[in-house]
Amino acid sequence: MKIHEYQAKEIFKKYKLPVPNGIVVYNAQEAEEAAKELGTPVVVVKAQVHAGGRGKAGGVKLAKSPEEAGKIASEMIGNRLRTYQNPEGLPINCVLVEAGVNIDKEFYVGLTLDREVSRPVLMVSAAGGMEIEEIAKTNPELIIKEHIDPAIGLLPYQARKIAYKVGITDKNLLSQFVKIAMTLSKMYFELDASLIEINPLVQTKEGEFICLDAKIDFDDNALFRHKDIQELEDTTQIDPLELEAKKWDLNYVKLDGNIGCMVNGAGLAMATMDTIKYYGGEPANFLDVGGTATVERVAAAFKLLLSDPNVKAIFVNIFGGIVRCDRIAGGIIEAAKQVELDRPLIVRLEGTNVELGRKMLEESGLNIIPAKDMADGAQKAVKAAKGKL
Ligand code: ADP
Ligand code: MG
Repeated sequence: MKIHEYQAKEIFKKYKLPVPNGIVVYNAQEAEEAAKELGTPVVVVKAQVHAGGRGKAGGVKLAKSPEEAGKIASEMIGNRLRTYQNPEGLPINCVLVEAGVNIDKEFYVGLTLDREVSRPVLMVSAAGGMEIEEIAKTNPELIIKEHIDPAIGLLPYQARKIAYKVGITDKNLLSQFVKIAMTLSKMYFELDASLIEINPLVQTKEGEFICLDAKIDFDDNALFRHKDIQELEDTTQIDPLELEAKKWDLNYVKLDGNIGCMVNGAGLAMATMDTIKYYGGEPANFLDVGGTATVERVAAAFKLLLSDPNVKAIFVNIFGGIVRCDRIAGGIIEAAKQVELDRPLIVRLEGTNVELGRKMLEESGLNIIPAKDMADGAQKAVKAAKGKL
């Protein structure tokens, strides 16, 4: 789960991490008042959307007067911000009006799970700011990494080691940095975060570190034990299809292709996508209906696929184990009653109650293209999506 920068900064404050003074506002007048209240010669108006790269996309702007802050806010709020991370754009419902900070240096600080070594990793770079993605590609050696033992968390010597490597040698700055790094590690574990990122962590002209940007992503599987964090969710920032899937507890990820997939089990879902690609097609989604699919859930999943205009053909690939084939058939028939099945549907059913499932589909009068196995189904789906079946 993602949250907004202003929410992440609230959490930072609770952990006593240094953040600029700021006020979140929902309209131009409030923005003007906020700028007055902050009282700094320059304020920064920052669009609150669940995407990075806002600076480059015009979502972070300096204002030299409260009136200007109001004007910028009125231009942002109610519009969408398109960034390279999210080309379709996300709605801007509020902006953070923040005290302008005198930046001397910008560092990158990130903490996430390194799946290759099964440990969290703290990453820091002196080349922080808006170009960090470029740096990661062209000069990865400029990003210093330290792995964290999950049983004990980050140790102070590790933080000091990183600090020296990125050129933080001043005694005062060093102790501030170590404190920040230690706090991040504590937060990461306590909050079940999957990512904490400060980009940039700035060194000010006054010789202080301040977290200018703040990002926290949370591990969805651990949210049940963080009710307060769950409440921070802003569903306006989530793709409507993914939101609907979440409502039904379906594992759905939208992709760029045109073959809608409905599969049970993540492994089979991955294999199905691979097979589609192998035969020259592109999956429109990853969808695992799981092992406990009821007719209602299958119907919801099916409607979800049909509501994606990119989908040109649907491939249902079910290996009935715990989820029985007759339930899947029932779900498809139920969904077809509610929404028009206006695209080719290829079905491969195998496993528990397969005969009953096939019979139900045959007798339903629906226009279904049966597949004898996965390869056959994938090939038919690829052809159908190209309009050649
Ligand atoms: P994003 O990462 O989405 O582009 P940031 O919050 O990192 O957004 O802001 C982009 C850039 O704007 C920062 O790298 C920094 O240079 C500048 N900036 C952001 N907040 C402030 C602030 N309060 N004072 C001065 N400059 C800021
Ligand atoms: Mg940033």
